[in-house]
Amino acid sequence: VESIYINTPAREAMIDITREVKEEVKKSGIKEGICVVFVPHTTAGITINENADPTVKEDILSALDKIIPHISFKHLEGNSDAHIKASLVGSSVTVLIENNEPVLGTWQGIYFCEFDGPRKRKVYVKIIPS
Ligand code: ZN
Repeated sequence: VESIYINTPAREAMIDITREVKEEVKKSGIKEGICVVFVPHTTAGITINENADPTVKEDILSALDKIIPHISFKHLEGNSDAHIKASLVGSSVTVLIENNEPVLGTWQGIYFCEFDGPRKRKVYVKIIPS
C-alpha cells in the first residue's frame, strides 16, 4: 500500500488528488488493473466529481452544510457533522487502470474531502493488476 499525504487548508475543503493518484499508478508500472483509493479517517472522505468548474466543489460543501450543519450533537468532541459528512461521501473510490493510467471521465477528478481540518491527512492507494 502506498500513501499520499495532504495538509488540508481549512475546516472543510475538497482537494483534487487526481495527479497524486496518477503518479502512484505510473510508479507501479501496472498496465491494467484497478486502483483502490482509501481514506483512513473518520472525519474525511473521498469522492469523484467535476474538476472543470471550481464552483461545483463549493456547491457540494455548502449543500452538505445545509443538510448537516455544524451544530451540537450527542458526540462530545463536537464534530459529529464531520463524521456524518464523511459517512455520506464514503471512505474509498475504485478506479480502473488502462495503459498505466487511471480511467476517468473528461470532467472527473478524485477529491479528498476534509470535514474537520485543517489537519495532516493520509490517503492509501492500492494498485491491483488484472
Ligand atoms: Zn469526533
